[in-house]
Amino acid sequence: MAAVAAGLSALRKVRASDRKPALLGGAPMRREPFPSWPVFGEPEERGLLGVLRSAKWGRGSGKTVEAFEESYAKLVGARYCLATANGTSALLTALAAAGIEAGDEVVVPPYTFIATINVVLMRHALPVFADTDIETFQIDPKSIEAVMSPRTAAILPVHLGGAACDLDAITSIASRRNCIVIEDACQAHLAEWRGRRVGSIGKAGCFSFQASKNLNSGEGGAMLTNDAQFVERAFAFHNNGRARRTAAPDFTYASYGANLRLTEFQGALLLAQMERLERQARQRDENGRYLTSMLAEIDGIRPARTYAGCTRNAYHLYMFRYDASRFAGLSKAGFLKALRAEGIPASGGYAPLNREPFLEQVIQSKGYRAIYGEARLKQWREQNHCPANDRLCSEAIWLTQNMLLGPRSDMEQIVEAIQKIKAHAPALAKG
Ligand SMILES: *Cc1c(COP(=O)(O)O)cnc(C)c1O
Repeated sequence: MAAVAAGLSALRKVRASDRKPALLGGAPMRREPFPSWPVFGEPEERGLLGVLRSAKWGRGSGKTVEAFEESYAKLVGARYCLATANGTSALLTALAAAGIEAGDEVVVPPYTFIATINVVLMRHALPVFADTDIETFQIDPKSIEAVMSPRTAAILPVHLGGAACDLDAITSIASRRNCIVIEDACQAHLAEWRGRRVGSIGKAGCFSFQASKNLNSGEGGAMLTNDAQFVERAFAFHNNGRARRTAAPDFTYASYGANLRLTEFQGALLLAQMERLERQARQRDENGRYLTSMLAEIDGIRPARTYAGCTRNAYHLYMFRYDASRFAGLSKAGFLKALRAEGIPASGGYAPLNREPFLEQVIQSKGYRAIYGEARLKQWREQNHCPANDRLCSEAIWLTQNMLLGPRSDMEQIVEAIQKIKAHAPALAKG
């Protein structure tokens, strides 16, 4: 063993730049996979079997979803939590409870998962895109003000990648302009803004527990709020319009709605996964910071900056920008290919959502023309430019959260792989 360890450390000392990239026939930086996701064991098995054997599989009869709601509200620091079928339905429920409907405008970022936009369209509201702050990858507050109108009813910022968006600026715009903030915290479990957990600061905060997320039950979601009436409207909406049951079940309706309920099985999984969350978050944070300290030294690699108010980054994604001109013109696609060949799975992230062709179809639809009128839609089209976001999409590189759950040496390998690619960038660019 000692000989192996000595051999390894000798190998480490060979400068990364002296070794050939895997794409040019060298040995890859690593062959073993990064930590797998999800992480589970005894607590999950116990929780799932408990629900199974109770024969109470839905939230109407069991108490597991309610227990989860109580502990998640406590964890995030909000008064109320409503569990939902997924993050998309948490967002949809929040918009419904806020009364967002046809004729309303909602300011959204173009750099997010598509669900953030889809839920606005599902309410027949008009999504208005604010540009991205290219340094932080978050929605740019300056651009939010610029695209608002008297019809703006809500701002729907995303805490992208698990870092917090600029909540000071956004909440101050919202209160000045008399509209609400609904936080899309689907990637930001345990992230903080000035010491408060995100998702507890706006009118509502929405989380996803989809399989890739830092807290996961395969599918699942939650909406948090501090407003007692708001959560009751949300409950009814997610329960086919039926208000929270008081005595005997009856068939009266508070509103219209859908069935967006979470199952008891998912509640049990979440309670078990929650026990691991804080420890995992700490490890991601430690590794994420370490990685940033090293990557910031590489000319042409710019880790996403976090705002001073972001006191904790959940690192759902580790994000940085790649400058091809500092890598002998090696394209982003070429860089990603070289990185993957080194055993470092990385992705190029989102495409600019404000340019999605399906949006134009919606804007041209009968319903949207009837609701908003040709003049407003023409203006929307003319205004729909997000140049900083376009540039970000062409430069962004992502690593996923599970890659931050291993030893520090994993971070060093990521850095060495990039250094190796950089040293051989001219040859890689030609190939
Ligand atoms: C995952 C995600 C959603 C949607 O959550 P689902 O649980 O997949 O429906 C919404 N917004 C963002 C930013 C997300 O990352």
